[in-house]
Amino acid sequence: METYDLIILGGGLAGMCAAVEAGELGASVLLLEKLEELGGSTVLSSGYMAFAETDMQADAGITDSTKSLLEDMIEVGGGVNDPALVAAYGQHQLETYKWLVEHGVEFRALEAVSGHSVPRGHIIDPHQAIQSLYRTVKKLPNVTIRFNTPVKRLLKNAEGRIDRVLYEFDGVKQTVIAAGGILLASGGFAKSEEFLGQFAPQLKDALRIGGAGNQGDGIRMAWEHGAWVQDLPYLNGTYGFHPTASGAVKSQGLAFYKGAIMVNQLGKRFVNESISYKLLGRAAFEQPEGISYQVWDQTVMDKSVFDDPLYDFELLRRRRLLYVADTLEELADCIDVPLEVLEETISKYNQGIQNGEDPDFGRKTLTHNYGKPTPIEQAPFYAFESTVAMLATYAGVSVNPAGQVINSFGEPIPGLYAAGEVTGGFHGAGYMTGSSLGKAAVFGRLASKAAVVRTIVN
Ligand SMILES: Cc1cc2nc3c(=O)[nH]c(=O)nc-3n(C[C@H](O)[C@H](O)[C@H](O)COP(=O)(O)OP(=O)(O)OC[C@H]3O[C@@H](n4cnc5c(N)ncnc54)[C@H](O)[C@@H]3O)c2cc1C
Repeated sequence: METYDLIILGGGLAGMCAAVEAGELGASVLLLEKLEELGGSTVLSSGYMAFAETDMQADAGITDSTKSLLEDMIEVGGGVNDPALVAAYGQHQLETYKWLVEHGVEFRALEAVSGHSVPRGHIIDPHQAIQSLYRTVKKLPNVTIRFNTPVKRLLKNAEGRIDRVLYEFDGVKQTVIAAGGILLASGGFAKSEEFLGQFAPQLKDALRIGGAGNQGDGIRMAWEHGAWVQDLPYLNGTYGFHPTASGAVKSQGLAFYKGAIMVNQLGKRFVNESISYKLLGRAAFEQPEGISYQVWDQTVMDKSVFDDPLYDFELLRRRRLLYVADTLEELADCIDVPLEVLEETISKYNQGIQNGEDPDFGRKTLTHNYGKPTPIEQAPFYAFESTVAMLATYAGVSVNPAGQVINSFGEPIPGLYAAGEVTGGFHGAGYMTGSSLGKAAVFGRLASKAAVVRTIVN
């Protein structure tokens, strides 16, 4: 029977980093990808990666530390993140950033993003990143990638070690052996109505934007072998998508992190806009008919960032997704909210932030501990109807820092590894922007190394 040192399930960022890492260590690697192309949710993503102490930050005059990155991560995660995973991320994040650069991944800009005390959103073009890793793989004769090959089951040998996978190609089932380990890099379950219905019924009205293959396969297969799962109670959507957004046309804008406020159909604010967009989503769903708008002025509009997936408000305007009005009266008319209430909301907010005290919701910053809000006063005024999308699930099988999957008794399941969105425990109660792509790269490399080290040394 065909045998490899490492079999990887899934060709998103976690799987591709794992394939390159193990391949360059000399291991024989087979990556099985369910769909006809690589990329999963990775290529749909906004491309922010959370790293600290990088050359890009230094060039931008930003002082940062790994310690501060981890402190922010734990704060956003409500203190329930697995400390061993967070520590491992801290230990390997900078090295992984450099490794990605060495492997041709281009970081094109740096932005302030949700949950961080300083600008730490290192932006990649995710297609470019996957292509660049793929180019490396193609030069490694010991790494094979097969497309249209969904893995169906994980199988054990007589000693109880998971050492084979059963996959399907062209309607035919085949089995292949892994001498070192099997690495689940199959992503989350943002596209599984079955999983979402079971674990996140509160998100039934959220848009679904994620990789088509992300249906919880890895979690289901690991469950069969006793894997524990973490972070399921903290599933959340992401706020800031236009109701017409889809995977192909994301139509997303996070103007609230540049100074917009959020109002409901009554014209009232309902939340501190500087908190995580996951929590904003929860608050938005509780509004009458689940409808809300981001409202901003020209001062915020001037902070639009060309070609940025989250902050290109000019693109939203060109797509005619923004209401634009010369007066608040016109704007209230466009979005059908009572003018007096909207005026009062904005006037109270403006006074509050100018006095350094937002009396209703305590907003002091643009996002997390970063930036200062500006009053909404300079015409024209803008409104963007926004809703919640389920992008990524951030909850999944328990792993240790070496990527070994842990069973319900806290023991590693022999032969089984996991990395990326299929894993839980790392984010805890809240996802910090950039930490999911970061986690995929850092732990994809760590897990594959751990899985193959035994076989290639012997
Ligand atoms: C719109 C959007 C924006 C986002 N923005 C960001 C961001 O800016 N920063 C950030 O950190 N995170 C972001 N995320 C989340 C992030 O993109 C994902 O969490 C991350 O890319 C997951 O990487 P992965 O390699 O674990 O999984 P994926 O990239 O999803 O790859 C999993 C792969 O496994 C394959 N697969 C599934 N089942 C099987 C099977 N049975 N057999 C074989 N293959 C299988 C899938 O087809 C897929 O190709 C965003 C997500 C979305 C959808």
